[in-house]
Amino acid sequence: MSEQREYASFLATRRAEICERIDAAARRSGRDEGEVEAIAVSKTVGPDEVLLARRAGWGRFGENRPQELGRKLEALGGLPEMAGVRFDMIGNLQKNKINQVIGRVALIHSISSAHLAEAVSTRCEARGIVADVLLEVNVSGEASKSGFSPDEVRATAEALVALPGIDVRGLMTMAPAGDPDAARRTFSGLRELACELRGRTGLPLETLSCGMSDDFEIAVEEGSTLVRLGRCVFDRGFALGGRAERG
Ligand SMILES: *Cc1c(COP(=O)(O)O)cnc(C)c1O
Repeated sequence: MSEQREYASFLATRRAEICERIDAAARRSGRDEGEVEAIAVSKTVGPDEVLLARRAGWGRFGENRPQELGRKLEALGGLPEMAGVRFDMIGNLQKNKINQVIGRVALIHSISSAHLAEAVSTRCEARGIVADVLLEVNVSGEASKSGFSPDEVRATAEALVALPGIDVRGLMTMAPAGDPDAARRTFSGLRELACELRGRTGLPLETLSCGMSDDFEIAVEEGSTLVRLGRCVFDRGFALGGRAERG
């Protein structure tokens, strides 16, 4: 087999394994399998790999840099095979890059401050569009992580959902790396916070974006509706279930 065919075959096999693990985690926690969607985070691969992943069945991709997002969209946007494919913005968004992102992505996961929410809303209003967004919350409280603190999001949620240029669809978080128990607490904390904010804002806040390659099964068990998977999708060296396995 050629290198490319071998990689295509890896992508398809791996996707099936990931979907099976997501479904199994959903069943373990009494959830409906259809409630959980997975995004292939393509930030470390090029347009060719994205196309192969598309052929392997992935329909939703995540990028963390506006410039790289633009590169992928330019390379792939017009291809018939990519029809219906969505790209999400999952990484830190600087205010001067907002215009490169709005109108091009299906969902912005990473609204990490009230300031940024207002700036995105203003720019969307100027273009006559409304952007679907998630509020990124630093549930674990690690200094290295960006996002609203839970208290900030409690204090500002009502003002943020009133902004006319954004539609707040839910919450996003990142768990501490390499600590399954801390990851579980982070994800359950996100779920509880969303529950509280639903009561406060009256919004459905139906999307909980959490879980990455190392911890997506824990995230699904704790209520994630959208897992963001990079290495486990694209990297042949990644051992699926290695660190995420429960004892
Ligand atoms: C890179 C990235 C991911 C995917 O991480 P993996 O560990 O490779 O699955 C998910 N979310 C965000 C915000 C990322 O930057």
